[in-house]
Amino acid sequence: MTNDNTSAAQSCNHCNGPIPEGQINPSKYCHLNCARKAAYHRKTPAQRAEINARSNRRRFEKDLLPHIRSISKATETIEPNTPIARWVVVCLLAERMRAWKLNLAMNYSQVQDALAELAGGYDRLEELEDLTFAVVCKHMEEEAAA
Ligand SMILES: [Zn+2]
Repeated sequence: MTNDNTSAAQSCNHCNGPIPEGQINPSKYCHLNCARKAAYHRKTPAQRAEINARSNRRRFEKDLLPHIRSISKATETIEPNTPIARWVVVCLLAERMRAWKLNLAMNYSQVQDALAELAGGYDRLEELEDLTFAVVCKHMEEEAAA
């Protein structure tokens, strides 16, 4: 004879953590997040792929699209192949090293096209990339030696 069904010390089916007392309905999970994660793990690989794709799309739209839009439209407001346009390109090249969202956005072809147009051609863009990278490396070496 056991008294398992009267035991109050239930633990979460997902994380094994304690289930907070005082819940009206006996719960198998400690938190809604654990219930969601457990539900995700019960899905088929195809269903998970669909969920992952949806969340990647959401992340892409929220994180990258603003950068892609604004850089792609920069050629409308900044006259390409001018010193100010190249200054903007160098600022973006330097900024991408510490801003991963901008860095990813700058890999998109429409952004690369806009940067090349601003810089005055793909060769000029590559030149600016090399110069920016060299300057940043020099600063890093100086900082490391200090
Ligand atoms: Zn849990």
